[in-house]
Amino acid sequence: MTRCAECGGPVKTRREKHYRYAECGLPNVIVDGIEVSECQRCGETYTGIPAIEGLHRAIAAAVIYKKGRLAPEEIKFLRKGVDFAKRMGTTPETVSRWENRKAPMGSAADRLLRLLVAKETPVTEYHVDVLAQLAGAERPTKPARLKMARGPKGWKFQPGPALVGVSRPETQ
Ligand SMILES: [Zn+2]
Repeated sequence: MTRCAECGGPVKTRREKHYRYAECGLPNVIVDGIEVSECQRCGETYTGIPAIEGLHRAIAAAVIYKKGRLAPEEIKFLRKGVDFAKRMGTTPETVSRWENRKAPMGSAADRLLRLLVAKETPVTEYHVDVLAQLAGAERPTKPARLKMARGPKGWKFQPGPALVGVSRPETQ
C-alpha cells in the first residue's frame, strides 16, 4: 500500500515484531511479521497479515498443545473449523454455554475438540500422549500466550512454556 484509502495521503509501512493479534479472538497471541501501514496525513492505520488462513491454522495447531484446560476464547477459536456441536453429539446451546463461561466444558470434550482440530490441521502431527499430560488440569485456564512467526514454509508457532511437550524437544 502506498496511498491511504481514506484520504489519499502518503503511507509509511513498518514490520511489527510483536503484534498482539487480538482480532483473532484470542488475547495473548503475539505475531512477528505483520505489516502495519500508517497514513502520514490522517493517521489511519492498516494492518496486513499475509496468508491469514495459514496463520489461523498455525494458531489452532498451537492451542491444541496448551497446558491446562482450554479457555472459553480458545474453545470458540478452535471449534469454528470443525462443526463441533454436531460431531460432539451436543447442541449449539451447550457449546455456547462453554464459550460464555456459563458452564465449564468437561475434560473429555476438551480432549475431543483438540483431536478434531488435530485431524483437520495439516500443519501439525499430534501425539496422543499430549492428552495424558493434560491430566490434572481440571479447571479452565487463561488463554495461552502464543508466539507466531513466519518461516519459509509458512506460519508456525514457537515452543513456549504455555505448551505441553513442545517446550523442551525430546532428544534421542
Ligand atoms: Zn489518510
